[in-house]
Amino acid sequence: MPLSDRRLASVPDAPDAADDPGTPVAKPRGRTKTGGVEPAEALKSQKKPAASAPAKPADKLAKLGLKSDIDLVLHLPMRYEDETTLTPIGELIPGDNTQTEGVVFENEIAYRPRRQLLVKIQDDAGDQLTLRFLNFYGSQVKQMAVGVRLRVRGDVRGGFFGLEMVHPALRPVDEDTPLPQALTPVYPSTAGVSQAYLRKAIDGALKRVSLPELLPEKISRAYLEPLNVPGLLDAVNTLHHPRADSDETALVDGTHPAWTRIKFEELLAQQLSLKRAHEERRTRAAPAMPRRSIDEPECLSARFLKALPFRLTGAQERVCAEIAGELTLPHPMQRLLQGDVGSGKTIVAALAAAQAIDAGYQAALMAPTEILAEQHARKLRGWLEPLGVTVAWLAGSLKAKEKRAALEAAASGGAQLVIGTHAIIQDAVEFARLGLVIVDEQHRFGVAQRLALRAKAQNAADGRRDFQPHQLMMSATPIPRTLAMTYYADLDVSTIDELPPGRTPILTKLVSDARREEVIGRVREAALTGRQVYWVCPLIEESETLQLQTAVETYETLAATLRELCVGLVHGRLAPAEKAAVMDAFTRNEVQLLVATTVIEVGVDVPNASLMVIEHAERFGLAQLHQLRGRVGRGSAASVCVLMYAGPLSQTARSRLQTMRETTDGFEIARRDLEIRGPGEFLGARQSGEAMLRFASLENDGWLIDPARAAADHMLKEFPDAVTRHLTRWLGAREQYLKA
Ligand code: ADP
Ligand code: MG
Repeated sequence: MPLSDRRLASVPDAPDAADDPGTPVAKPRGRTKTGGVEPAEALKSQKKPAASAPAKPADKLAKLGLKSDIDLVLHLPMRYEDETTLTPIGELIPGDNTQTEGVVFENEIAYRPRRQLLVKIQDDAGDQLTLRFLNFYGSQVKQMAVGVRLRVRGDVRGGFFGLEMVHPALRPVDEDTPLPQALTPVYPSTAGVSQAYLRKAIDGALKRVSLPELLPEKISRAYLEPLNVPGLLDAVNTLHHPRADSDETALVDGTHPAWTRIKFEELLAQQLSLKRAHEERRTRAAPAMPRRSIDEPECLSARFLKALPFRLTGAQERVCAEIAGELTLPHPMQRLLQGDVGSGKTIVAALAAAQAIDAGYQAALMAPTEILAEQHARKLRGWLEPLGVTVAWLAGSLKAKEKRAALEAAASGGAQLVIGTHAIIQDAVEFARLGLVIVDEQHRFGVAQRLALRAKAQNAADGRRDFQPHQLMMSATPIPRTLAMTYYADLDVSTIDELPPGRTPILTKLVSDARREEVIGRVREAALTGRQVYWVCPLIEESETLQLQTAVETYETLAATLRELCVGLVHGRLAPAEKAAVMDAFTRNEVQLLVATTVIEVGVDVPNASLMVIEHAERFGLAQLHQLRGRVGRGSAASVCVLMYAGPLSQTARSRLQTMRETTDGFEIARRDLEIRGPGEFLGARQSGEAMLRFASLENDGWLIDPARAAADHMLKEFPDAVTRHLTRWLGAREQYLKA
């Protein structure tokens, strides 16, 4: 009888062939780097054998977050192994991961080229396969004694001894040991919890729970039926024990209707949770900041607008109205202001601050780098101090005396606006009446830092514990719609979708670094005709020292070559005062060519600069290139960005550079960036919505977000009790992430 025909009755106990100690630590599907079990941690705990009492199995499950039957039932496989068939040894193909079976006819320990155990098996057709073990125990040698029939599964290789498997998963079987009829699930796990143990625990839970449908009839009919998905229990059973004839590909890549059902449930939970958090904000208190009529002569916003040398764009007016309206409410605003590089977010922030100050509160503006914070300080001082507003500057580099003065101004309320870096959220900083918190380039900050700034408002609370300041978060990294909906559904979003008038589009050129001389000639020409130039030094991720050295060398060569120009250098290691001095000189056009590292990436604003050269552009990410390029094209002169590259280019580098040449639209660039990199890396610091997803992934399941959102709205309106039940089932402890 050929081996492959030996499909027998189902096995009650799932085989634990996949259970060898070498099984790598699994990561739950759909999670990004930040979410999963860290392999390093798992390894550590593996190395340390439990010297004291070994952890109880239940404790180990709890560590995986599996505390109740429902948790277990919803702990779904991340992949499957097909152990339903046996491939005869004669049909094994190198490169495949396959299961086969044979009887041991040789078992020996070889010492050359190194110590190893070689076990040879032969099947009924007489074909042979070598099993090779580089690490092994005496018990294993015995387990695979001559005459034992072994069922093995592993990667087939064409080895020195003919076909072989290295460290296959295996178990001794009888001639009539049945094959499983279903695909074998492989669960996300962690060191010390075996697949066999998990399977048993999950199967037990599956027998105990009934997993009733929680979605109201009306919701199912409206949102589930069109998706053509099975009932919940059915879906869960299919995923834990798929039938051998299931569409294996769909099960593995997550497109099977059973997965769709689960992902919909999960996305629904996420949307419900985010929307609830959003509603819950309405129950917290924040200072109401009435908008003065702009006819009142003392109205700060009105005086500010009058003093501006230009008019707001339509888009700026719209977002200002959105923000101003929300600041008048006695609940905390939590708004994301997104607008492409150069779209004019700073003025919008200044107007929001003016409204807070007018209402008698303090505002704080935090930026991720000292250069950017400094520039904001200079700009906002220029706008607001002539109108009588007191602005304080707070950064790590301040001298003790200056710092004390700034702290005092914040604590006494003497400073109406405090601008600075992370220094603002340090413990020593207190505010008298903080009412509005503005965070620029918010994606550069983690949730924790934003929370810390928010916590500074306690003094304005008049003893009310649930009091919060309004928050305005600004970002020039536009977020594609699906991402915005899943990651930021608890925020309101205002978007500036228009650039100030009079900007001429930036022309982007790709130039091989073989033409460096030519590029330097262009720089000279531009500078001599009164334009200013940025020269961005190559990014060297492995070594900051090397990067610094390169920057200094680039500066020296350029200064020597371009003697007729005044050349400046700015990099991250300069003392803040030096940095500020160089930037000042550049702003005043005393420096024509500024050699810089990526410290100029965010926010720097010198409208007269209209040529940018980026060296080794192929090393930068898309978002970074877009940010850098956004430093030019800010004035009326036609701007050029030269992306110098060194070949050969990788596929992704090529597509990044092409994208840069083809478009200057930040939204389009963000969309392509998402395509190239995937959402995990795209967002940088972890956002609240992300941590809630185990099964759904934004790359593949974006199409489910719209129906999930619609269903969430509907449920919140009509079935509040069902909402709570659904959240408890799907999120449990996970919802705490949202409290951020
Ligand atoms: P970003 O959105 O990148 O932070 P900024 O706020 O730095 O942009 O603004 C970019 C430049 O455009 C600044 O020089 C700013 O003064 C100018 N600007 C902003 N709004 C307008 C407007 N409505 N008309 C003309 N120039 C504007
Ligand atoms: Mg900005």
